[in-house]
Amino acid sequence: MDFKLTVEQEKFKEELEVFFAKQMINAPAEYEFGGRDAMITEDGWRFHLEIAKKLGEKGWISRAWPRQYGGQDAPIVEQLIFNEVRAYYGAPGVDIAGVNMLAPTLLVAADEKQKKRFLPPIAKGEIMWCQGWSEPNAGSDLAALSTSAIRQGDNYIVNGQKIWTSGAHWSDWIFLLARTDPNQKRSRGISYLLLDMKTPGITVRSIDYMNNSHSYNEVFLDDVKVPVENRVGEENKGWAVTRQTMNFERSGVARFAEIRRGLEQLVGYARETKRDGMALADDPIIRQKIAQLAVENEAGRALAYRIAWEQTRGGLVMAASMASAAKVYGSELFQRFAYTGCEIMGMHAQIEDHKWSPLRGKFIHEYQKCIGSNIAAGSSEIQRNLIAWGALELPRTI
Ligand SMILES: Cc1cc2nc3c(=O)[nH]c(=O)nc-3n(C[C@H](O)[C@H](O)[C@H](O)COP(=O)(O)OP(=O)(O)OC[C@H]3O[C@@H](n4cnc5c(N)ncnc54)[C@H](O)[C@@H]3O)c2cc1C
Repeated sequence: MDFKLTVEQEKFKEELEVFFAKQMINAPAEYEFGGRDAMITEDGWRFHLEIAKKLGEKGWISRAWPRQYGGQDAPIVEQLIFNEVRAYYGAPGVDIAGVNMLAPTLLVAADEKQKKRFLPPIAKGEIMWCQGWSEPNAGSDLAALSTSAIRQGDNYIVNGQKIWTSGAHWSDWIFLLARTDPNQKRSRGISYLLLDMKTPGITVRSIDYMNNSHSYNEVFLDDVKVPVENRVGEENKGWAVTRQTMNFERSGVARFAEIRRGLEQLVGYARETKRDGMALADDPIIRQKIAQLAVENEAGRALAYRIAWEQTRGGLVMAASMASAAKVYGSELFQRFAYTGCEIMGMHAQIEDHKWSPLRGKFIHEYQKCIGSNIAAGSSEIQRNLIAWGALELPRTI
């Protein structure tokens, strides 16, 4: 594979860098060193929406989509460049559930009317989505889900509970999996539904995270009406729809870009901070630790580029296993990165938003956030299973 970008792609990258550097000058204080989610504070969310609109106007959110749905038919590598630069600058503006999960699903599995209705608002950064899949008794084993959607005329009546729904408290819409045929078992009898969060019968309750932030939720659905026209794919065949999201940039490059920036900040801290009369940067153990992370991060970035290349060539099955590998590697590297940052900063790493807190408490936030990173979006064990079956052709055990 060729890692080199074309002249046009280099120009696009520069344009992105100038854009994001300028936008981040006006970011709320908590964005200064990254490590916080846009959805944690009202200011953070407002800023996210502001940037989303600007990205939508530029057509960058949907650059790799077909033109008729708000895209520019650009190669996947351009979406990768966009994701990498945005993540490096710690900028919000991309609704992960809507842009990275739902949109590619709609492009493949929705009917024409649904595509025309739902895709352009995502491309313009106008409508925010959340993912309503997991339930208290269905996470890794998603096919065990029990939320029901019983058909009554032109509507489904939905009852059940979703859990861990990231950003449900801010979202305009949710994409749901629900059981439309109670007589069918496991992955059969499930349908894929799109639901306006303003519909009566929806209650959103915060799951307070260990850092007192509100990002995750329980969503209760009591006799909620979902029009049948909001079902994507055939009734009872929603499982097949959920597996349609491969033809999109799924390299995990954003994670490696965030870590690269964090490492630069850590290097700056180690240079400026003295302990016992010696700069931390002169301590051989600290240097070894930071250098080790830098090596691992470069390997991750190379893997991300390889995945985009495989996707461009149409090697989607290979790319899917590699995307699982990048997810395991990136989320576990993120944990090592957060732990090492805390270790280097010592007790000071635990102080938040205070003059003595290095990098405005970035590392304590990263430390707390990284715990969930190898669980969310499919745990490391599940990703390893997928690699074993898909890439290594080992026997399936479940
Ligand atoms: C921060 C965060 C954000 C999330 N956001 C969302 C969201 O927006 N929308 C949404 O729908 N869900 C969301 N989730 C839920 C997430 O998808 C589930 O937590 C995840 O799939 C694991 O399911 P579980 O929590 O039920 O754990 P379980 O499935 O009960 O797993 C428990 C442990 O058993 C292991 N395990 C389970 N099955 C196997 C197996 N077959 N082989 C080997 N090991 C196995 C798991 O790896 C894990 O270590 C989020 C979760 C987190 C932590």
